[in-house]
Amino acid sequence: MVAHLLPPQVHVFVRDWLSANHVLLKSPAGNVLVDTGYVRHAPLTLSLLATSRGLGSEPLAQIVNTHCHSDHMGGNAAVSRAYGCGIAVPEGEAAAIEAWDGRALLLDYADQTAEPFTPSMVLRTGDTYVWGDLAWEAIAAPGHDMGAMCFHNAEHGILISGDALWEHGFGLVMPPEIDAAALPATRTTLERLAALEVRVVIPGHGEPFAAFDAALERAMRRVEAFEADPMRAARHVLKALLTFTLLDRRALPLADMPAYVERVSIYREFNARFFRMPPADLAEFLIAELERAGAVRREGGSLCPMAAAAG
Ligand SMILES: [Zn+2]
Repeated sequence: MVAHLLPPQVHVFVRDWLSANHVLLKSPAGNVLVDTGYVRHAPLTLSLLATSRGLGSEPLAQIVNTHCHSDHMGGNAAVSRAYGCGIAVPEGEAAAIEAWDGRALLLDYADQTAEPFTPSMVLRTGDTYVWGDLAWEAIAAPGHDMGAMCFHNAEHGILISGDALWEHGFGLVMPPEIDAAALPATRTTLERLAALEVRVVIPGHGEPFAAFDAALERAMRRVEAFEADPMRAARHVLKALLTFTLLDRRALPLADMPAYVERVSIYREFNARFFRMPPADLAEFLIAELERAGAVRREGGSLCPMAAAAG
């Protein structure tokens, strides 16, 4: 546990893989919430916020996003409505949000959803924001998402890393054939983070952790593995997205999986580009790989996730 490394006004709600963690930064000057989870979990997000560990009956002044994927911004609209607060997004996300670009935001393109919202403020790289009486520098963290940011508090050595760095890896990164900039940017981001003074990382998914150098090392090994084998990166993207969708839907009919990988754009595009298999073969390949990894199981004609989606 690293809770003792966090000052008392920093509250972390550790969620799961469908909803990203929330970080509540409390201050009499205005409470700030970093990331709001997946849209289907919005009622749970609101009830967590209303607990005494959260806001209780206090107001929320602002929502902030590390990046605008469905598991980080999905609750923005609902939370903003409930508290009447504004939403700040990284400058690199503003255009995609304004256009509600389903491809850039990995929404319909990847069979995910989120409720549209209007940002009230754009966060600029290199600027410092005071949230929870702490100074946070906005650090560009492109790679997994080219517009993503991390937030660093130098005083306590806290890094809110989003999906740029987890204890074991980072969020999916597009292979070079899809986005030539993504993997090099991931490497640069890790190098940039390595230069920071960090005592505790609050990742987008998983428990906060203190072993920053070890996490960076593992992340860099993963970058190198993807650099060496773009097919590995392509497989990883589809497997991660299918696992995510299963957490959302809880089950998909096995008989529909060939049609699914033909219907949802990212699977169809990746198949044409990388796999070149009949849809039924691609579906079977992905399912078998995920079964082997212990991420899914077949049950009575359905494909089900192994991990619980609750929380
Ligand atoms: Zn993400």
